[in-house]
Amino acid sequence: MYIAISTIIFLIIIISAILFYVSIKSFYKKNPNNIPTEYLQSMNYLLSEQHDKAIDTFMSMVSVNKDTAETHIILGNLFRNRGEVDRAIRIHQNLIARPELKPEIRQQCSIELARDYLKSGFLDRAEQIFKKLSFEIDNPVVVCLHLKEIYEQEKEWKKAIGISERIQSISNEDLSDTISHYYCELAENEIILSSEENLNEAKKYINKALNYNKKSVRALILLGDVSFQNKKFNEALKRYIGIFDSYPDFSYLVLEKLKITYEKLGTNENFFTFIKSLSSIRNPMELYSNLSNYIPKNMSNEDISELYNTEFQKGEASLTQLSDYINLIEQNKIAFDNKSLNNIKKCLELYSSKESNHKCANCGFSSIRHFWQCPSCHQWSSINKSTLTKSKNDHYVV
Ligand SMILES: [Zn+2]
Repeated sequence: MYIAISTIIFLIIIISAILFYVSIKSFYKKNPNNIPTEYLQSMNYLLSEQHDKAIDTFMSMVSVNKDTAETHIILGNLFRNRGEVDRAIRIHQNLIARPELKPEIRQQCSIELARDYLKSGFLDRAEQIFKKLSFEIDNPVVVCLHLKEIYEQEKEWKKAIGISERIQSISNEDLSDTISHYYCELAENEIILSSEENLNEAKKYINKALNYNKKSVRALILLGDVSFQNKKFNEALKRYIGIFDSYPDFSYLVLEKLKITYEKLGTNENFFTFIKSLSSIRNPMELYSNLSNYIPKNMSNEDISELYNTEFQKGEASLTQLSDYINLIEQNKIAFDNKSLNNIKKCLELYSSKESNHKCANCGFSSIRHFWQCPSCHQWSSINKSTLTKSKNDHYVV
C-alpha cells in the first residue's frame, strides 16, 4: 500500500513535468518573437544611465516589426520629453530608414521626428515633414494643428490662415476668432508701412478679420488706426470712442490713441472733457495716467487735485496714477498736505494686499500687459484684464 502511493506520487510528478515541458515548448512556438536580447541589454544601459550605449544597442537590432517599432518610437519620445532631442531624432531617423517598416508605422514615426524638430527649433524641417504628411495620412487634423503652430511661430500669417481654414473644413474646431487675429496681424504689418497702398490693403485685411469675428475689438481698434494714419482724425476719434461705448473693458487700450488723436485735432481740452464725462459714469481706472506730463493749459491746480481725489476716494487709483500723483506733488501742482498724504497711504494699503493684472482664461497665465495671444498656451483672445485681485507671489509676470 505504502509503495503504491509513492509510485503514484512519482508518476504524477513525471506527468506534470512532461506537461510543463510541452506547454512551454508550444508557447514558444506560438511566440517566436520573444524578447530579443538587445532589448534586455539596452534596458540595462538605460537603467544605468548609459543612454548612448542603450540607443546603439537598440538600433543594432536586425529587424523591426510592428511591436518593436512602437517601442522604438516610445523610447524616442521619452528622450524628447526629457529634453534630449538629439537622441530622439537619432532613434526616429534610424527607424524611418528601415525598409521593412509598414507605411502606417513609418507615418507615425515621421510625425514624431517632426515633433522632435519642432521642439529643437528646426521649424523648416518640421514644416516640410508635416506638410508632406498632411496630404498622405487619413486624418491629418493633428498634423495640420502642428503646421498652424509652426506658422504662428514663424509669423507666416497667410499660411496660418490657409491651414486653419483647412482644419475647420476637416474637423469641428471653430477657429474663426483665431483666423480673425491672423488678419489683424497682416493688417498691423501694413499699417506700420503706412503708405496709401498699404493702408488700403490693411483695410481689406481688417474687413476680413471682421468677417470672421464681428466682435473683434482688435479689428475695430485697427480701423481707428487706419483712419489715424490716413490723417482722418475725426473719423479715428469716432472709431476710438466707439470702443469706449461698445467695449468699455478694453477702453484703456485706446486711451493713449485717443489722447494723441485729440492732440492732432488741436483740441487737448476735449480729451479731458471726454474722460471727465466717462469717469463719472464708468470709473475707468487708467483715465488719468501720465497726467503729470500732459496738463492742459487751462486746467487749474484745484481741478487736478479734484480729479485725483475722486479716483483715490473710489479706491480704484492705479499705481501709475499714484506715481503721477507724486510727480504732480513734486511739481507743486498738488499740495503736499494731510489730504494728499492720506490719498497716497490709502492707495498703497490697497496695493499691498491686492494687485491689478491680466489673466488668461484658458491657462491662468497672468501678466501686467495685454496680449492678444497668450504667451503661455498660445490661445487667442483669452487674456482679459481682471479687476483687483489678491496678489499671489507665484504669478508669472511679464
Ligand atoms: Zn494661456
